[in-house]
Amino acid sequence: MKFATKAIHAGEEPNLKEGGCGDVVFPIHLSATFARKEIDKPTGGYEYARTSNPTRRALEKRLAALENAKYGLAFASGLAAETTLALALLKKGDHVVAFEDLYGGTRRLFDKTLANFGLEFSYVDASDVGKVSNAINSNTRLIWLETPSNPLLRLCDIAAISKVAKQHGALTVVDNTFASPYLQNPFNLGADIVLHSTTKYIGGHSDVVGGAIMLSNDELYAKLKFNQNALGAVPSPFDCFLVLRGTKTLALRMERHSQNALKIAEYLSVHPQVEKVIYPGLETHPQNKLAQKQMSAFGGIVTFVLKGGKSKTADFLKKLNVIALAESLGGVESLINQPAVMTHASLASEERERLGVTENLLRLSVGIEDYDDLQADLEQAL
Ligand SMILES: *Cc1c(COP(=O)(O)O)cnc(C)c1O
Repeated sequence: MKFATKAIHAGEEPNLKEGGCGDVVFPIHLSATFARKEIDKPTGGYEYARTSNPTRRALEKRLAALENAKYGLAFASGLAAETTLALALLKKGDHVVAFEDLYGGTRRLFDKTLANFGLEFSYVDASDVGKVSNAINSNTRLIWLETPSNPLLRLCDIAAISKVAKQHGALTVVDNTFASPYLQNPFNLGADIVLHSTTKYIGGHSDVVGGAIMLSNDELYAKLKFNQNALGAVPSPFDCFLVLRGTKTLALRMERHSQNALKIAEYLSVHPQVEKVIYPGLETHPQNKLAQKQMSAFGGIVTFVLKGGKSKTADFLKKLNVIALAESLGGVESLINQPAVMTHASLASEERERLGVTENLLRLSVGIEDYDDLQADLEQAL
C-alpha cells in the first residue's frame, strides 16, 4: 500500500471475525488487566496494559507502517521515547555523537540527567559529515541526528552519516519529528532507528502528547520492547486513539503545510521588514540540494529574522491575530515562537549567540488554514 492508504488502514482493519462487530474505528480498550481462561496462557496475548494493550498495539502497527519499518513502539511523550531508547541501548562508559542543534529538551535529558549515569555526549555540527566522523571514538554507540533542526532548519545528510556510522559499528538514530514520515524516510537512507514526538505532525491537532520509535532490527526491538515495559513510560489508550486518528490525515496535512510554508517563505523573502528567511525549500538555503534529495517536500516550519530589535519583534508578535504565540509545532493551527525567549531560553546566551538564535529570530509553524488569511495576518503585523 502507498503512504496515504497505510496511514488510514494499517493496524486498524475492521474485526469481521466471529464475535467481532466490524467497527471501522479501532476501540479504546480501557481495561488495565486481562482475564485468562488458562493459567499459563494470556488471552489474545494480553496480560497487563503497561506491557501491551489492544489500542496501543493498533497504533504501533500504524507507526511501523508509516516509516516502512517492521516494528513501532508508542510512548507517553517524545522524551519518554528518547529516555527508553537511551537506557535500553547504552551502558556506563558509552558515548553518543549528537547534532549540536538537537531539540532543547533532548540536550537537557542528555546533559542534566543521563550524563549522571556515566554516559558521554559530544555535540557537533552534523550538517558537516566530516565533523561527525571526527567525533566518533572506540566507545561511540549512537549517532543522534535531527533533520531539519529546530529552529535553524539545518539538515544532516542521513545517507552519508549512516554510512560512516556503520563503518564504526555505531547505530544512527534520526529524530524525524520536523519532517514527518510523509516527507522523509530515514530507513530508506540507511538509518537504524527513527524517533518521533507524535505531539507534533503525527498527532497533528495539538491535543495529545506522545512519542514513537520505529525500527526493523529484531534484536534491538526486543531490547526496546523489554524496556518499554520495564520503564513504563507508556501512553494511555485514549492518547493512542488520538494519535491513530491524527495519522489518518497526515498525508493531506503535510501537503498543505508544505504548500503554505513555501508560499510564506517566498512572501517573507521579499518583504522589506524581513532581514532573512530560512526554509529548506528556498534556493537561498545552503542545503537546498540536500533537502531536494532526501525530502519529498520541505515541511511546515519557516524561520525568519525581522529587521529591528527586541521591541519591534514584540510589537509584531502582539499584532498577530490568526497566528497564535505559543510553543510547540506541527498542529493544524499556525503558531509562532520566539526561540530566544521561549523554547531556547534555557540555552546559555553565548551558545544562542553562537548558533544565531537572536531575539529577532522567529519560528513559524505554518498551519493548514487558508493561505490568504495567513499572509494577510503577517502583512498587517509587519
Ligand atoms: C517536541 C520535540 C521532542 C520532544 O517531544 P515531547 O513529545 O514534547 O516529549 C523531541 N524532538 C523534537 C524535534 C521535538 O520537536
